[in-house]
Amino acid sequence: MGSRRRGLGRALRRRCPVCGTRPIFDGWFALRDRCPGCNFSFEREDGYWVGAMIANIAAAEALFGLIFLGGVIATYPDVPWTPLMVAGFVVMIGLPIAFYPLSKTLWLWVDLAFLHPLDADDLSANDPRRG
Ligand SMILES: [Zn+2]
Repeated sequence: MGSRRRGLGRALRRRCPVCGTRPIFDGWFALRDRCPGCNFSFEREDGYWVGAMIANIAAAEALFGLIFLGGVIATYPDVPWTPLMVAGFVVMIGLPIAFYPLSKTLWLWVDLAFLHPLDADDLSANDPRRG
């Protein structure tokens, strides 16, 4: 569907997945509470970012596994264990930091496109779910 692809493109460019406005971050780690363009409330419910964190950690671990396994297979039997461990360490620390904003915008996109479509509450100034 066209709007899903458009939303994915916006998420990959760290824009609001609803309207495409940017910036929606104050710095690398700080996503704003609401979109300055369409007033979309980014944290749609309590604990909303757990899914994004899980995806972020899973991506780092998958990449670590690929690098580690690929390194062992490519160099066996003379595996350079120390460089492999250093590379794995750098990936495990660096990737979640580098991927952090994308994990949030991509999670928003997945949620909007496949799980919970946009509704009026997402854009209202007084979100009833917040009490
Ligand atoms: Zn927006």
